[in-house]
Amino acid sequence: KAKKDGRGRYQAFDDSNASELQRSKKMRALVKQDTYAETLTVHYQPMVCLQTAKDYCFEALIRWNGSKSEYMAPIDIIQAAEQNGSIGSLGNWVLNQALKDHQGWDGTTRIAVNVSPRQLGNSGFAAQVLAALHRWNLPPESLELEVTETALLDESASIAELRKIKELGVQIALDDFGTGYSSLTLLQHFAFDKLKIDRSFVKLVDSDTLSHEIVGSVLELGRKLKIETIAEGIETERHLAAMKSLGCNMGQGYLLGKPMPKQHVAERLLAAEKVA
Ligand code: C2E
Ligand code: MG
Ligand code: MG
Ligand code: MG
Repeated sequence: KAKKDGRGRYQAFDDSNASELQRSKKMRALVKQDTYAETLTVHYQPMVCLQTAKDYCFEALIRWNGSKSEYMAPIDIIQAAEQNGSIGSLGNWVLNQALKDHQGWDGTTRIAVNVSPRQLGNSGFAAQVLAALHRWNLPPESLELEVTETALLDESASIAELRKIKELGVQIALDDFGTGYSSLTLLQHFAFDKLKIDRSFVKLVDSDTLSHEIVGSVLELGRKLKIETIAEGIETERHLAAMKSLGCNMGQGYLLGKPMPKQHVAERLLAAEKVA
């Protein structure tokens, strides 16, 4: 175990540091453009209308699909790609996979794709999004991009790029809402289409008065600003009941549907059609 010395530094030649270094080297080597198709795949998690229980959108989430011994969690894959400068091409790969897979599904659903800060900083990102929509012959309205607050804090260039994309008709969602440092400032500067209420609030919505009030206030804020709101991380019937009673119309979470491979999405949509 690493031990701190008096001034908060860590001792050198520590075993855990060495293996950590090896691990991050491995990650950098692994996330290479020419091997995406062999090592990575995209899963999809439904967003559900809480009144009708209908899926209205699917969020693309990256998954490790290579050898088990080299497994990486989604967040590690993204971080590795950000570190080795390949996040632009990885992000574009995910976007194209998602649009391609979405083509085969019920035309009334949308597709959501997460965007990394580094992608937004790159002017030309809007052109990439437009090219992908053309390539898969999809209207901009069928695509939602999810950005986090940290992604936008960095530079105003990111906001400018995001404006271009919104002007195309693509929906822009603010992910993990409430966990950043400048949520309200951001709302002042950009007209988001959707707020995704972070699951740390949803998790306590049925047990903690303060969290309950915070979630209620965010929903009210959404109504006043005419921004859609969705609750992330609905895991239990109690979460669901609490969100419904607060007037929340949309949700996502393990209770409503876990991230699943594309074949399962098609089956799920077909099964729902038969019930309706
Ligand atoms: P996110 O965009 O906030 O996605 C939600 C995460 O919460 C996903 O984790 C999802 O599997 C998980 N989740 C969904 N419902 C529940 C629930 O009810 N309970 C709990 N405990 N968790 C739930 P995942 O797939 O591990 O992704 C983690 C993060 O990695 C994402 O957070 C997103 O920021 C990033 N990410 C994933 N795929 C991509 C991608 O293609 N591009 C970029 N830039 N980031 C991605
Ligand atoms: Mg997301
Ligand atoms: Mg989120
Ligand atoms: Mg998150």
